[in-house]
Amino acid sequence: MSNTIKDVGAEPAQADGYGFDTIAIRTGQLPTDEGSHGEPIFTTSSFVFKDAAQAAARFSGDEPGNIYSRFSNPTVNAFEERLAAMEGGEKAVATASGMAAILSTMMALLESGDEVVSSRSIFGTTNVLFEKYLKKFGVKTTFVGLSDIDQWESAITDKTKLLFLETPSNPLCEIADIKALSTLAKARGVLLVVDNCFCTPALQKPLALGADIVVHSATKYLDGQGRCIGGAVVGSNELMAEVYGFLRSAGPTLSPFNAWVFLKGLETLSLRMKAHSASALRLADWLQGQPGVKQVYYAGLPTHPQHLLAREQQEAFGGIVSFELEGGRKAAWSLIDATQFLSITANLGDAKTTITHPATTTHGRLSDEAKASAGITEGLIRVAVGLEDVNDIKADLAKGLKALSC
Ligand SMILES: *Cc1c(COP(=O)(O)O)cnc(C)c1O
Repeated sequence: MSNTIKDVGAEPAQADGYGFDTIAIRTGQLPTDEGSHGEPIFTTSSFVFKDAAQAAARFSGDEPGNIYSRFSNPTVNAFEERLAAMEGGEKAVATASGMAAILSTMMALLESGDEVVSSRSIFGTTNVLFEKYLKKFGVKTTFVGLSDIDQWESAITDKTKLLFLETPSNPLCEIADIKALSTLAKARGVLLVVDNCFCTPALQKPLALGADIVVHSATKYLDGQGRCIGGAVVGSNELMAEVYGFLRSAGPTLSPFNAWVFLKGLETLSLRMKAHSASALRLADWLQGQPGVKQVYYAGLPTHPQHLLAREQQEAFGGIVSFELEGGRKAAWSLIDATQFLSITANLGDAKTTITHPATTTHGRLSDEAKASAGITEGLIRVAVGLEDVNDIKADLAKGLKALSC
């Protein structure tokens, strides 16, 4: 395992046979003269050169090394190296947000006239990026059902450059067969891009299943405590060189402070994802039997139509549980308002459990038709299960459910 500062364009992080949890804690450490055990934060905009010749060599690329923090920064590089090793990718490029990761991928790899095929149930802002902004630059997106391989196949044209998906989907926990879609992508000569925000590499490794690129909102589970906005793109050296080129020119780079927070987050990622998943499974199981609950959406339940696929493709089922109430919006809002400590916020991936009404918040911008086709009903509630005592989370939701029968 490398213990040196990695420069942009340097050899990829090698896992050297170490286990995932060791990589998550040890890869990308930065040595300092003072022997700091924690990774230092390099709060600097630029780097000095020992002489004019070195400055010229750095700028020409003859000598690897830092120049300016829009290009590279040691703390950011350490985060990139660690995340790349955890995803099993050659290289990671860190970005200012999850959206900057998706934008940078698209700007780097697409041009006017190209087409994207995307699953319909994606993060709302990703949808806006595709439908409003990529469209403006002549890139058309076709939306398909996440788990319907025939729809993906027939949507690919000779202009298609990449397939984009999130799995499990938000908020209904639909699962994509990454391996099958990667076979399709390879057969048709297109790239497969997976937003791995919900599972993280602790639970799912899309690159090992054949995906070409993983994108992340580090804002969610990679941080894990709701502190910072950030993102990353992971893939081959060749593809990441293109993404890095866009980033360096356009500028949505990650700040060194946020990179440091994410480095700390990665150290506990595996433990946290197991705990989120264990509590989510218990809640989903309990919710199924509650009066007023029409349906529970969680791939960990044996009744979930893609339970077996999720078992095969994921280490556990993640922290997001959604459920639909009999009483529509009125019931959903009463339940949410009757809870005591659950946070009413659209964020997820936090130690604090959050509760959301997707139809009027995260998915509120969708037309009624789009909501119906995505299964976002008025009675739907999404819970991003945090790390509090699961009995307390259950008791708080029980208060909400009790309010419905009053
Ligand atoms: C939050 C989120 C994003 C966007 O990330 P930001 O860090 O908020 O820009 C993208 N994809 C998914 C699945 C998300 O949950």
